[in-house]
Formats: sequence, C-alpha cells, structure tokens
Amino acid sequence: MSHDANCIFCKIVDGKIPSMKLYETDKSYAFLDIGPCSPGHSLVIPKYHAAKMHELPDEYLQDILPIAKKVAIATGAPEYNILQNNGRLAHQVVDHVHFHVIPKPSSEQGLVVGWPSTQPPKEELQAVYERLQKNMRQ
Ligand code: 5GP
Ligand code: ZN
Repeated sequence: MSHDANCIFCKIVDGKIPSMKLYETDKSYAFLDIGPCSPGHSLVIPKYHAAKMHELPDEYLQDILPIAKKVAIATGAPEYNILQNNGRLAHQVVDHVHFHVIPKPSSEQGLVVGWPSTQPPKEELQAVYERLQKNMRQ
C-alpha cells in the first residue's frame, strides 16, 4: 500500500487531519471539500497514495466511481460535474488522486468550464488517431 506521511489526503485517510466523512470502503474515502464551489461539493479519494490517476492500481480506481455515484445521489443535485485533475497545468493542487463531485445548482455556482474546441483538418485528426491506436495496443 502506497502512503506519503507528508500528504494532506493521506493524513485525512489516517484521521490525522479532521474531515467531514461521508463514506468509506477498504479502498476509498469520501468527504466534503473544505473549499466548496457549491453546497455539497465532495471528494472521493483512494486509500493509496498516487499523485495522478494513471499511477493508481485499477482495483482502487474501480472502487471510486460507484462511491462518486452514491455521493452525487446524496447531494440531491439533478445536475453536477465529476472532475479529476492531473498536474498543475490541469489545475491539480493536492498531489493525491481525487475525484470531485460538484453540484451545479445554477450557472453562477459549481464548476465553470472553459471549452476551447478546435476544428483540426482531417489529416491531423487521423494522425492523432493512429498514434493513440498504436499506443493502446502496447
Ligand atoms: P485540486 O485542485 O487539487 O483538484 O483540488 C483540491 C481540492 O482539495 C480543493 O477543492 C480544496 O478545497 C480541497 N482541499 C484541500 N485541502 C483540504 C483539506 O484539508 N480538507 C478538505 N476537506 N478539502 C481540502
Ligand atoms: Zn497521499
């Protein structure tokens, strides 16, 4: 089991830092976010220290989404976002994998998303597709 004694979320899992626990399993822990973007904003984290999602063993990853679903239902919010940031450029601040459950009660509250979509030429899309397809086979 991976653990980092200096990690704030490992400390929350250990009970060394208090948190408003919503749910836990042997592999995951869900709690309220201390700086919510909207009422009910919660986090689901693995009981395994890894900074980014691709570093997390599948068994921990598989445990998380059903809990995010439970939390989403518990908020009662008909509209919400699931957010999972990896790396500073991608807005990750805490380097322990976490899934945000963020109710979207109005256009002003909750997650605000920039969506800079582009219209690349077909050849460019094809080249990206072939690269990914090749990497997926490895
Ligand atoms: P990130 O930007 O890394 O995806 O989000 C980190 C989240 O963790 C933020 O929403 C922030 O409010 C939350 N957070 C940071 N420290 C604590 C803490 O000590 N307790 C709780 N409950 N949430 C925290
Ligand atoms: Zn950690």
